[in-house]
Amino acid sequence: MGMPESREYRAITFDAIREYYDVVVVGAGPAGIMAAIEAAAACDRVLLVEASALPREKSCGGMLNVYSLRALERFGGVPEDMILSPRWISFRYYHMDREVKKATQVRFLNVDRARFDAWLLGLLPANVEVAAEVRLADVSQGEQAVAASLVARGAGGSSTRSVSCRHLIAADGPRATARERLKLRPFDRYISVQEYVRIEPGALEPYFDCIYSRRFSRDYGIGYIIPKGEVAIIGSIFYPGTKDCGRKHEEVLSILNDLYPFGEPVKRETWIAAHLTRPSDLVAGAGRILLAGEGGGFLSCTSGEGISFALNSGSMAGRAVAASLSAGAPGPTDALRRYERALSPLKRNLAFRMRMFPFMNSYAGKNLACFIPTPIVSKLTERV
Ligand SMILES: Cc1cc2nc3c(=O)[nH]c(=O)nc-3n(C[C@H](O)[C@H](O)[C@H](O)COP(=O)(O)OP(=O)(O)OC[C@H]3O[C@@H](n4cnc5c(N)ncnc54)[C@H](O)[C@@H]3O)c2cc1C
Repeated sequence: MGMPESREYRAITFDAIREYYDVVVVGAGPAGIMAAIEAAAACDRVLLVEASALPREKSCGGMLNVYSLRALERFGGVPEDMILSPRWISFRYYHMDREVKKATQVRFLNVDRARFDAWLLGLLPANVEVAAEVRLADVSQGEQAVAASLVARGAGGSSTRSVSCRHLIAADGPRATARERLKLRPFDRYISVQEYVRIEPGALEPYFDCIYSRRFSRDYGIGYIIPKGEVAIIGSIFYPGTKDCGRKHEEVLSILNDLYPFGEPVKRETWIAAHLTRPSDLVAGAGRILLAGEGGGFLSCTSGEGISFALNSGSMAGRAVAASLSAGAPGPTDALRRYERALSPLKRNLAFRMRMFPFMNSYAGKNLACFIPTPIVSKLTERV
């Protein structure tokens, strides 16, 4: 599938950005869009800035779990035109060295991520102004307001604008600029490489194969394969700081090429993802600035699933700000306190995964699934 068609939303130019907004949202991923939708229900002026061009292309497996689907039900569910074949994909544990495969009941809707993101943009109400190719460069705050410094790069160089707002919701993903500028606890970042290769329709079974092998280099976190219509994604996740990821990914490709019916390569993407290890990596924000989605650390450290956490934390941040604005003029941390309260089950869930991660990531943990019955592997996969 090529780039998706743009859906209707209120795009504005950099020059049209005003000096004041009730709420500024940074990042047009699932967290930012949900935050903007919710905030816009309680105020007139919301600005959403996105560093890349829109519609954007984010490297992703494009698998929506049951929690993502639930979060999207109120928008009528995911439209058909972005669902790929096979429609449903189940998680399968594959220990290559032991030749053990365990297919679980944990399943995902298989979508084209670029189309999905473009559809989300079209859900924004008219009072959300969207400025693409505009980056949050700096942010600071006082008792009454937040000051955001925004930058756009054009043919004649960079232009900067200052915007003041009551609240800023940073949903800026793994780059996490706002978190960095606020000197909040930083997190490390995995490096991901996704290779798209042609496949004959139906050539792969409807599984998201998660592959373990000692033949892969030690800095290799995990490998996976996802069939997506006429192509398949072969993914490699490397631990933070790994050098030469491209070459190491090629080594894995040559091993997997012997096992799967892959055709010619179509494209390759290199990206980053948050590597979260401690509950203190989960940060709701500071003062009038709320962090949502991966930028706040809201991503599963065990499965790498982030869309449901982004949709849900984004909605919670937007609702907290909306409730605080509707309540009149409460103090500078009122929205943050509301957000913290709403987040606590999600944080508990993620903290549980963090406790499980060291074992699951160990050699013993990666082997364990070989020896336990498939229904138990399935149940464990559901929880973590
Ligand atoms: C290779 C890979 C595969 C994945 N596969 C899956 C999957 O199959 N299923 C799943 O659930 N999750 C998956 N994830 C995780 C998931 O994609 C993310 O967790 C999710 O997109 C996070 O959403 P978000 O809105 O928090 O951030 P993002 O989707 O990352 O969006 C953040 C946005 O903020 C913008 N931005 C960043 N800095 C600034 C700035 N300073 N100013 C303005 N804009 C800025 C970025 O350009 C970006 O568009 C995958 C991740 C990777 C890397």
